[in-house]
Amino acid sequence: MVKENSVELFNYIDESTECIKDNLEISYLEALIETGENFFEGEILQEEINDSQKDKLMNSIKQFISLPKDNESIRRAFQLAILKGMKQGVQTNHEMTPDGIAFIISYLVGKVTEGKQNLTILDPAIGTGNLLSTILNSSNDKFTASVGIDVDDVLVRIAFVIGNLLGHEVELFNQDSLAPLFVDPVDLVVCDLPVGFYPNTERAKNYALKAKEGMSYAHHLFIEQSMNYLKSGGFFISLVPNHLFTSEQSQQLQNYINETGVIQGLIQLPVSAFKDEKHQKSILIIRKNAENMKKPKQALLVDFPKLSNMKAVEDIMLQMNAWFKENLQ
Ligand code: SAM
Repeated sequence: MVKENSVELFNYIDESTECIKDNLEISYLEALIETGENFFEGEILQEEINDSQKDKLMNSIKQFISLPKDNESIRRAFQLAILKGMKQGVQTNHEMTPDGIAFIISYLVGKVTEGKQNLTILDPAIGTGNLLSTILNSSNDKFTASVGIDVDDVLVRIAFVIGNLLGHEVELFNQDSLAPLFVDPVDLVVCDLPVGFYPNTERAKNYALKAKEGMSYAHHLFIEQSMNYLKSGGFFISLVPNHLFTSEQSQQLQNYINETGVIQGLIQLPVSAFKDEKHQKSILIIRKNAENMKKPKQALLVDFPKLSNMKAVEDIMLQMNAWFKENLQ
């Protein structure tokens, strides 16, 4: 068992990132990518760094490398640095998936993949990779291929350097996930959906869930695209806005989901997990139709308690375990 030393690891990451940021006059998040690359290679890769700063940087690299650490402490340490970088300005829609939520999704992934091996997984809005790395840290051996896509190049590069340090083999694409993808159908799509309007009205026309008038909802198109790249019987597990099934286009979405799959569950997350009521989210689980697929007698509908209420969390986990046993295994 490795000592939990994320804060110590973070201090070396932060020291190096601040130094690179000032030397190269780039943003904290960009400097974090350079730090990750140096830590992975064990050397200073930026030729432009002042000689006077090189000893300091080399010291952070050596200290980081020599500390005993497991994948979760590395992930948490980088997460602290990402949060610091994001405070300096990032759109709400590009925010990292918080740990508590990533752990619940990871638990659900464990449940729907119980007893299975050689699986493939896709995150079409991988961002910093926090959600996917949390899942892979707890069940990497189940997955033979992992794919991540994001339109934001800085975030994809962050996902890349952290993935390297964690030893996860994730194939990454920096592109619009609503364009055609160079990805074979997967067993599992996980996502923290970007919410809002999709500006490319021309491309939106390729989707059944395009708006009848005006701009379409990106989150609706993302659900359709995820279903397109799922194998029959595969699972879609995603963070979705609470207003998903109450907006004016929700009937169209509901009909589409009923035609292509089965809603297995909807887990409403506690209010305290989000900054404000407007941005509250739930976790939606859909299974894509397949021949002879076992359908749940009733969908898993859960009001998840505050994560700090351990007793209530334990109780709900027991109920969810029982549901999975009865309906999936
Ligand atoms: N799970 C991610 C993490 O842990 O960092 C956070 C995902 S964030 C809520 C949503 C992501 O969707 C952002 O990283 C954003 O860049 C991405 N995104 C938005 N529109 C996109 C598009 N059309 N194609 C691909 N990615 C997109």
